[in-house]
Amino acid sequence: MKRREIKKILIANRGEIAIRIMRTAREMKIQTVAIFSEADKQAPHVAFADEAICVGPAPSAQSYLNIEKIISVCKELNVDAIHPGYGFLSENPIFAKKVEENGLIFIGPSAHAIEIMGDKLAAKNAVSQYNVPMVPGVNHAIVDLEEAKATAKEIGFPVLIKASAGGGGKGMRVVDSADDIEEQMQRAMSEAESAFGNKSVFIEKFITSPRHIEIQILGDQHGNIVHLYERDCSIQRRHQKVIEEAPSSLLSEEKRKAMGKAAIGVAKACDYYGAGTVEFIVDENVDFFFLEMNTRLQVEHPVTEEITGIDLVREQIRIAEGEPLSFQQKDLKIKGHAMEVRVYAENPRENFLPETGTLQTYAPPQGPGVRVDDGFKEGLTIPIYYDPMIAKLITYGANREQARVRMLRAIDEYQITGVSTTLEFCAFALRHDAFISGKFDTNFVEKYFRPELLDEDDPEEEELAIAFAAQMLAQANKGGIPLSQGENKWKLRNRD
Ligand code: ADP
Repeated sequence: MKRREIKKILIANRGEIAIRIMRTAREMKIQTVAIFSEADKQAPHVAFADEAICVGPAPSAQSYLNIEKIISVCKELNVDAIHPGYGFLSENPIFAKKVEENGLIFIGPSAHAIEIMGDKLAAKNAVSQYNVPMVPGVNHAIVDLEEAKATAKEIGFPVLIKASAGGGGKGMRVVDSADDIEEQMQRAMSEAESAFGNKSVFIEKFITSPRHIEIQILGDQHGNIVHLYERDCSIQRRHQKVIEEAPSSLLSEEKRKAMGKAAIGVAKACDYYGAGTVEFIVDENVDFFFLEMNTRLQVEHPVTEEITGIDLVREQIRIAEGEPLSFQQKDLKIKGHAMEVRVYAENPRENFLPETGTLQTYAPPQGPGVRVDDGFKEGLTIPIYYDPMIAKLITYGANREQARVRMLRAIDEYQITGVSTTLEFCAFALRHDAFISGKFDTNFVEKYFRPELLDEDDPEEEELAIAFAAQMLAQANKGGIPLSQGENKWKLRNRD
């Protein structure tokens, strides 16, 4: 493997992840090129880059997904490598191949690995020789209704019908009894066809109270693969993550090791290099089963960076340059605890319906142990064309409780008006006994959340308010801040 130095990167993405990648590139003295659509002229990622080029109109298909245009920009500006971020073209094997064919470096795995892992059935088959536990079910596409019925009976209800090409929680249907299988199969197939252009579905056991735990892996182009421990992403709405943490409060040291080993097996099954994530579902007995592999940088990668001290984007770039990993498994250690909440423009009171609008106020939190990866600023409008994520708020602490309390403090400091966000739901979840005790699963929202609960007074917040008032009183008594100005901000914020 010949070493190829990267001097200029084009980031084929937008928003927070584009800026996140550019920050590391800048630290590595690598020039950055941003691309943007006509809807993103004012976006911070455009101003952040050394150079920026408009690649087309607002719809993604005409801009962020325009392969020919992106490659021609690279040639025009003497770009060496493309970082795809997540979403958009990041898991498109045709793109990865075209990038390489044009003499550019794709900062990611081989097109071959993307192709295998992009299809849930192909992935299951590839890893079947690697002793990786799988959810009980079938490893082939089912089109025949009779076969579907027989399979479901054999596995035992409830079962889950899944689209082979599925993603983003789409194309999944839970079936509780034999009476429903026919209807649900038909629905799943037509949903898969319209969402992914591929109607292939398969059936697996539906694990009723699972945890979603995933393992971060890194592999170089010399055959070395390590894992960087787990992330627990069990707090989800609509089968999609909203709070993540590392490490997981569920795993013993022994289980952590076993999952790490299985994840490395999955990566070996497709000769993986680059950063990747192997997702598992974990049942009540803490038995784990392979779900899928994401062949890119994950939204929630910062929690792993916080607990391992490793900059994953830097490693991605080094690996793409052909460098061997600069550390081995034995050099890695978990230090402290990190949490991430995703700040989506969504209304938790309306079933997490996405919203568009203008950020009339936007002031992110700061202070010890707080990291904000965002892609917006005050006054900007959230475009309807793309994912409604505004930011990721990450906190780090010496232990889980410190990270949790810091997160609540940071959420309280976060000022956003103009759109509803997931922040108040996240604060609700972080204060919930189930979350505090670590005894929760992916059904947290269905089990515990009702919009009315957002309006209930919270004892923890009350305590902070009392402490704050007492402090103000003490200062006023000493001739400090007059009481009238010492209004209780803790109670006023986030109330618009
Ligand atoms: P996608 O690619 O659409 O994100 P995944 O296979 O990664 O689909 O699953 C997404 C989520 O759906 C998981 O995190 C989990 O909450 C749920 N899920 C997937 N498979 C199962 C299963 N067999 N039993 C129960 N829940 C599941």
